Amino acid sequence: MAKVYETNLQVIAEIAAGKEEENDHFMRSLRKYDGAELDARAHRLNTEVSAAVSCTDCGNCCTHLIVNITKPEIERLAVFMGMPEAELREKYIEESMAGNCFINSVPCHFLSGSICSIYSERFTECRDFPHLHKPGFRERFLGTLLHYSSCPIIYNVVEEMKQELDFFEGD
Ligand code: SF4
Ligand code: SF4
Repeated sequence: MAKVYETNLQVIAEIAAGKEEENDHFMRSLRKYDGAELDARAHRLNTEVSAAVSCTDCGNCCTHLIVNITKPEIERLAVFMGMPEAELREKYIEESMAGNCFINSVPCHFLSGSICSIYSERFTECRDFPHLHKPGFRERFLGTLLHYSSCPIIYNVVEEMKQELDFFEGD
């Protein structure tokens, strides 16, 4: 029987509020494992959970993230939207003094309900979130935990990993 994961955002947020200390202990417990083995486990769990969680029914990260975008991505989006690049930048993009670009609104302008209205052209940072397919699970775990309470994929991957590693509070 297919595994059922918790996807209710309110339930996850409530559970997460009571797990801050546990997650801190879990993070410290990761030191005793081989990094490559943790990465392999995280990648497998991410594949399993992502297949069962519908991002198009969720869209919660699009209401939280500050999305960095590259200049080529801005150029492509201008073509896709049939809008002069200068107008696109004026309406939707902020540029820092250092020249880094990001979408100028949180939630993201391009979120329509729980759906991305520019899905085929969404940015690398959107495609990569929640970054659990990447190497360095342990090294990035603090950043992962920032979204534990708001991303069902992260929540379920972390909870599954605790179970697989026989973690219990106090380890
Ligand atoms: S561009 Fe689309 S996927 Fe990226 S944050 Fe905005 S709505 Fe979400
Ligand atoms: S990545 Fe996480 S927060 Fe974003 S839509 Fe998918 S499940 Fe929701």
